[in-house]
Amino acid sequence: MHRASEPSFRESVDLMFARAVKLMDLPPGMEEKIRVCNSTYTVRFGVKLRGAIHTFTGYRAVHSEHMEPVKGGIRYATSVNQDEVEALAALMTYKCALVDAPYGGSKGGLCIDPRQWDEDEMERITRRFAYELIKRDLIDPAQNVPAPDMGTGEREMAWMADQYQRMHTTDINGRACVTGKPVNAGGIQGRTEATGRGIQYALQEFFRNPGDVKAAGLSGTLDDKAVILQGLGNVGYHAALFLSTEDGARIVCVIERDGAVSNPDGLDIDALRAHIVETGGVKGFAGGAYTEDGSAQLEADCDILVPAALEGVIHMGNAANVKAPLIIEAANGPVTAGADEILRDKGCVIIPDMYANAGGVTVSYFEWVKNLSHIRFGRMQRRQEETRHQLIVDELERISSDASINWTLSDGFKDKYLRGAGELELVRSGLDDTMRGAYNDMAEVWRTRDDVPDLRTAAYLVSIGKVAASYKAKGL
Ligand code: GLU
Repeated sequence: MHRASEPSFRESVDLMFARAVKLMDLPPGMEEKIRVCNSTYTVRFGVKLRGAIHTFTGYRAVHSEHMEPVKGGIRYATSVNQDEVEALAALMTYKCALVDAPYGGSKGGLCIDPRQWDEDEMERITRRFAYELIKRDLIDPAQNVPAPDMGTGEREMAWMADQYQRMHTTDINGRACVTGKPVNAGGIQGRTEATGRGIQYALQEFFRNPGDVKAAGLSGTLDDKAVILQGLGNVGYHAALFLSTEDGARIVCVIERDGAVSNPDGLDIDALRAHIVETGGVKGFAGGAYTEDGSAQLEADCDILVPAALEGVIHMGNAANVKAPLIIEAANGPVTAGADEILRDKGCVIIPDMYANAGGVTVSYFEWVKNLSHIRFGRMQRRQEETRHQLIVDELERISSDASINWTLSDGFKDKYLRGAGELELVRSGLDDTMRGAYNDMAEVWRTRDDVPDLRTAAYLVSIGKVAASYKAKGL
């Protein structure tokens, strides 16, 4: 997607990094130590499929080992390449630091079109790729913990975890070798929705800060805001679903591979998703008007633009035409460094990827902790919490039964109050807390420092500061 005149994805990340470090006072050499990617492993392996040997190319880049294990997803796409994997690994370092997930940054990728292969073939390819990485400790609960990314999901994570366990039969913590597993194979409730849920929590926190909302030229709350979303994959779907059904936002346009579908009253996201699953695209969806030129819709009028697909979709060629006053980067790297500058000059506020889409790795962290502690969150406390709540409800009911006091409990209070938090409620609570905290750490720098022009620079300042402190503490 990047134009010849623009830097590559990795260079784009480095440029944004460089802009931030200029504003910092780092010890000599620290800037370079943090910026460079520590190592990238490339593997080419063969799998016998359909009567022939097929050779696949895969990568696992480790950007920073200031904390271990290192963490980051594995992407399956034909466009995967070393530059992209290294850019994404760097973003993982900064992302984990910003949300206090105790990891270094890593990322993996396999050059493959998953739609070309059936499930059994995908399993063989995935197990073989996992074997290559496990052999070199590039999948390991203590050293390197992959997760889903574009083109991968629970299914692939379950195969990888099983492959690890076959090769390390006595490792009691083996399940913690990857996150994003199905709940019945050591996963955690709320991981699949986590990145989309994080987008929602990020926007909610943004709109809790009227000064920040004003800086974007907006006012009010999320209610009735017009949203254009690009990419109705796992992240985009959950973000759009929660924003429209829980916060009152109108998803006025969804851009997909085959075009865009618009409805000024708001699209029915579940119906649209079902249509895409059935037909492979948005064309023909009855609940909105179809246009073939999807990317033109990135430039349409709206309050909030949510690029939730690939990197580099807002570039120097279209940034000047983007009208959205607020962009939240659900994808990694959707705005190039050149476009970032154009948009900033126009006054557009960008909630940057390393913060906005950190919900995924945050809940991955909870899953990893669950795997290492071998117990589901809430298992010990839930009923005890309910028993204590019951005491209060009994007492309130006793008081309200006194005829001389004209007082009753509100409808629904008892049921809501009595229910102790299960794993899903706890995961959402931990995620919400993380997104609120990280937003304010980042926004505070933006609000208080005149030399920090935007949230992205502020996010880099916070995260680079944390990585630098960690290297310093280690005595490096
Ligand atoms: N692939 C996701 C990301 O880019 C999740 C990574 C993880 O959970 O480790 O943040």
